Amino acid sequence: VKRPRLSLDDYERGVRGRNRAVLAQAITLVESRNESDAKLAQELLTRLLPATGGARRVGVTGVPGVGKSTFVDELGMRLLGRGKKVAVLAIDPSSTISGGSILGDKTRMARLSLEPDAFIRPSPSGLTPGGIARRTRETMLLCEAAGFDVILVETVGVGQGETAVADMVDFFLVLALAGAGDELQGIKKGVLELADAIGVNKCDGDGAARARTALADLRAALRYLPRRRPSWEVRALAISGQTGDGLDALWDVIEEHRRALEASGELGAMRAEQQRSWMWSLIADRLERTFRAHPAVAARLARIEADVLHGRTTPPAATDELFEVFGTAT
Ligand code: GDP
Repeated sequence: VKRPRLSLDDYERGVRGRNRAVLAQAITLVESRNESDAKLAQELLTRLLPATGGARRVGVTGVPGVGKSTFVDELGMRLLGRGKKVAVLAIDPSSTISGGSILGDKTRMARLSLEPDAFIRPSPSGLTPGGIARRTRETMLLCEAAGFDVILVETVGVGQGETAVADMVDFFLVLALAGAGDELQGIKKGVLELADAIGVNKCDGDGAARARTALADLRAALRYLPRRRPSWEVRALAISGQTGDGLDALWDVIEEHRRALEASGELGAMRAEQQRSWMWSLIADRLERTFRAHPAVAARLARIEADVLHGRTTPPAATDELFEVFGTAT
């Protein structure tokens, strides 16, 4: 779609004024692979940086079906009720593989999507973890500059984007379910270590008793988990995104976490670390673009990729071959 090109001033004024159409276009700009867009996006971010950093950044992850969209819809409505402005960024790196589309998010968060103080943005699918990290971070910064108080970053818990997201938010929430035999379901290996809190979801109706047993077991297990942050002990809560039970208590935990990390000085250190990891995702992104744009690489890439796909060569051999030509002029 051809859109009229906005000037840097237009973008800046529109984003700061929380003009949703301009904000959406600014996000498209930071997502663009076009070189001149990328340059404009960096200039825009540089201008907006002083207006960022004020939001509560919360990551929410869990396997499909755990109840993320129901939860985010309900939590978002409650936050609006507290006078907060809420942005939701939804990432589904697997959507190209599964054929599913996250563009259904407008209907997945049925109430929130109709609210003027809420903004929902699905991420394009098929990105590398590095791509996810850069675009999501920059989208988050744009939403902060637009004055959103809470940014909820939702990821499908399939183990790809979780580390990247956990590294850019202040609080990382993992949603899980109680299984048939009281055991926990839906927590992928490695994701638990990233959690600041675990919400045992669907603690309602027939599932309530099971969820409570699973919760007690989980709390016992958590005592053996090494701490991710010195001043914070991982919490486990029983919640229901459907009834809203436990969500106010959960938000109190998020606020408590904020105070604890502020008091210990870890918040400042964490934000500094986030800046460093942003720099590295920019470097990785630019290196990949430079690599792909190199004439000798570009000339061979399609054939070598096909060779890897058909098993005619191995990924390490293909990488060696490409780096050899990358290092030489054509
Ligand atoms: P997502 O794939 O993680 O986004 O999960 P959804 O929010 O789409 O929910 C998956 C299914 O679980 C839907 O049928 C929901 O109605 C149901 N569900 C979601 N949250 C709850 C909950 O708190 N309690 C119960 N009983 N069902 C829920």
